Amino acid sequence: MLEKMFDINLDRVIEEFEEMTRDAEAVQKETLRRILEESGNAEYLLSLGLDGRTDLESFKAHVPIVTHGDIEHYVQRIADGDSSPILTGKPITIISLSSGTTQGKPKYVPFNDELVDSTMQIYRTSFAFRNREYPIGCGKALQFVYSSKQFKTKGGLNAGTATTNVFRSSQYKSTMTAIQSQCCSPDEVIFGPDFHQSLYCHLLCGLLFRDEVQFVSSTFAHSIVHAFRTFESVWEELCGDIRTGVLSGRITAPSIRAAMSKLLKPDPLLADLIHEKCSGLTNWYGLIPTLFPNAKYVYGIMTGSMEPYLGKLRLYAGGLPLLSADYGSSEGWIGANVNPNLPPEQVTFAVLPNIGYFEFIPLSERGGAVEPSPVGLTEVKVGEEYEILVTNFAGLYRYRLGDVVKVAGFHNSTPELRFICRRNLLLTINIDKNTEKDLQLSVESAAKLLAEEKLEVVDFTSHVDLSTDPGHYVVFWEINGEAREEVLNECCNVLDRSFVDAGYLSSRKVNAIGALELRVVRRGTFQQILDHYLGLGAAVSQFKTPRCVGPANDAVLRILCRNVVKSYFSSAF
Ligand code: AMP
Repeated sequence: MLEKMFDINLDRVIEEFEEMTRDAEAVQKETLRRILEESGNAEYLLSLGLDGRTDLESFKAHVPIVTHGDIEHYVQRIADGDSSPILTGKPITIISLSSGTTQGKPKYVPFNDELVDSTMQIYRTSFAFRNREYPIGCGKALQFVYSSKQFKTKGGLNAGTATTNVFRSSQYKSTMTAIQSQCCSPDEVIFGPDFHQSLYCHLLCGLLFRDEVQFVSSTFAHSIVHAFRTFESVWEELCGDIRTGVLSGRITAPSIRAAMSKLLKPDPLLADLIHEKCSGLTNWYGLIPTLFPNAKYVYGIMTGSMEPYLGKLRLYAGGLPLLSADYGSSEGWIGANVNPNLPPEQVTFAVLPNIGYFEFIPLSERGGAVEPSPVGLTEVKVGEEYEILVTNFAGLYRYRLGDVVKVAGFHNSTPELRFICRRNLLLTINIDKNTEKDLQLSVESAAKLLAEEKLEVVDFTSHVDLSTDPGHYVVFWEINGEAREEVLNECCNVLDRSFVDAGYLSSRKVNAIGALELRVVRRGTFQQILDHYLGLGAAVSQFKTPRCVGPANDAVLRILCRNVVKSYFSSAF
């Protein structure tokens, strides 16, 4: 049956994807040719002696593998107003700020219309597959989306986070309408000047349109959990606003107040209903379907550094399916989730072979490069881990994204990737190597002890403390209540024991690495960290808690350290 919606034919979207992935190698070659042709006159490619050639062999022979640091000065020149063709044939006119959680400060990357096109292609593709399994009706989406502050670079270019640049693009609204994903909040809320006020009003709009809400989403799952944690403390105030039709005094932004006043009318019946429903919940289990009876699912990126929020998300979602969103970055998109039935822990991303040219550096089991030469998209092997290199229409050539992925299988001839972790997020002191995933597993094991006490880890991060001799790992935890001393002592031991990397174990046994330290921080510490990043121009929509705070990130380290209330040392070894 042909499913026709607005101007998008979802069956056709799926057919196109199937067609394109049948001969991914040919599509990749053609995509590389187009990228190199469009930007053949760019200073960067000319300086490498590519001389207008567009074939794969010349590309590999002339173009080096780079990191952001290698191309930073080119992007800076663009930001400073040099409009000559530097990285791309068509000059870049917008700059994106990547979330920069790793380095501690946002970094500049080029943004252009081609990135908007591929974003829309990804949105359409995964929606087509999602809607086949979980059809939604006409209605609205409660989307916790926020714009970052936009500013002009020295050269007068608009700069903002990639998500903000996408939200502002003309194609965004029409695609969202076509895929039935219109946000229930007005633009003034999304683009409001203060994130806390926007969040409150997103919640309020969701309640006002509660019967129409078809799904609840955000870019990253963190924003959904954060939103409903906030709901737990403001729900009575929200009911009060609905009862009286008067917006809370906490909303001071005139643009938001004006937009909300058009929606908010006194509705005591709705206020009573929400009050009664919330009062009937136990530990907020099933909050989302209780508030939004017609919601079909919860949607957002739930993989990678979002996995730690899944427990809380499942609690709020009750029985609603959690559908994990696609894989991309400010630098460009990579793949779509075309198997929406998979639980978030097993989600894979089928690479779209026409949005960039992708290469993969094979990694040994513990993340070291065993072979420096990358392989092509269709040459990857199932079960192997790789670091991704991106070449795309936005001026990146053989760019190390810094992510480790594992090939879980193939969809036709394009690989389905599983996100493993950021490559550079390693806890390491000497021969030990622990990734973000290792830390997450260790925290999960230890948090089980807290769960027995009906407590949970709100958020966590880590740090390598070399100020002691020997150095040791520090894990910071924010907990949602008071845990007993014995429990926290044992949590600390479990954390230490759960790092199973051979280098860590052997170093701990001979005390070449000191006892792991668990530092419990005050409630609200991770909110302060979020606010700190927002102050740097980040957007909540793209926020990812840094899972390891290095020396370059001293502002975050200071926030953590000044909020420590208790600290424990492991006696596990
Ligand atoms: P940003 O710096 O905000 O552009 O974030 C991009 C990074 O977010 C990627 O390089 C990944 O590390 C992470 N990321 C994006 N999408 C996903 C996903 N679906 N699963 C896990 N991590 C993701």
